[in-house]
Amino acid sequence: MEITLSQYAGFCEGVGRAYDMVEKIAKDPKVKRPIAVLGSLVHNNDVVKRIEKLGVLKVEMEGTLEETLDKVKGKVKTLVITAHGMGPRIYELARKNGFDLVDTTCPRVFKVQRLAKLFFDKMSQIVIIGERDHKEVKGINEWAQRKAVFVENEQELENIELDAKRNIVVLSQTTQDQEFVEHASNVIKEKYPKVEVFDSICLTTHHRQTEVKQLARENDVMVVIGAPESANSNRLHEISERVNEETYFIERADQLKEEWFSSCEKVGISAGASTPSWVIDEVIAEIKGMGERESVLHTSSGCESSL
Ligand code: SF4
Repeated sequence: MEITLSQYAGFCEGVGRAYDMVEKIAKDPKVKRPIAVLGSLVHNNDVVKRIEKLGVLKVEMEGTLEETLDKVKGKVKTLVITAHGMGPRIYELARKNGFDLVDTTCPRVFKVQRLAKLFFDKMSQIVIIGERDHKEVKGINEWAQRKAVFVENEQELENIELDAKRNIVVLSQTTQDQEFVEHASNVIKEKYPKVEVFDSICLTTHHRQTEVKQLARENDVMVVIGAPESANSNRLHEISERVNEETYFIERADQLKEEWFSSCEKVGISAGASTPSWVIDEVIAEIKGMGERESVLHTSSGCESSL
């Protein structure tokens, strides 16, 4: 069985940077303790467990930000903002409540947040193509005073109602499906006279999505590795499945099933931006093992028939 791994599989630059920053501060005696991440650093339980082993806690983001910070006041000294970024209030509230902040917001997300603020302050109407409940999108919306209009799907695009007299600025979640963003931006441009579109899809995401399509075309079976709550992993799964029905979405190697590969010669593997390299290695090793068992089975059945 031939296995092809996407060259863009696994941690993107933003997630890798955030993980490295957390590892570094966990070892730095000058950083005030306890340290806690606001939410999951990445959508991957393995990574979360590794971070816990470094002595870094996780704060569950429940209720308002004020309520969350109230809960940990006095128990945590340093707070970490994840690569997804957050709204501007965290900076003010952390200062007011005496927390030190470590900001691992991905520079690409930072750019979209600041575009949202810049154009909102110029009275433009902000449209975000993305999932309104996703942490990154919520953060971007806060930079636009929570006044952005969301487009999550075709139906919302059809029903969109914007103020035709205002300048409209279209931004997108950095991990959105590129085809949908292009399509949605074109529909909005056709419908309204003053529209500015900022291509805010991250290049890493773009490459990953383009490559997964190609891998799905070239391989009998596709395996996409990512957590169910990881938006970009889900997107890779959807894109791959559109091209190749034999696409399987797993989080860990122990979810692989031997029968998926029973009549398969070529397997393509892709993984979301939050999937660590050690999980990808485990999946490859497991598939290789299945391939070997498979070839042993074929050999022995061949022997039987010749007897
Ligand atoms: S997917 Fe792109 S924008 Fe998102 S964290 Fe990674 S590098 Fe940054």
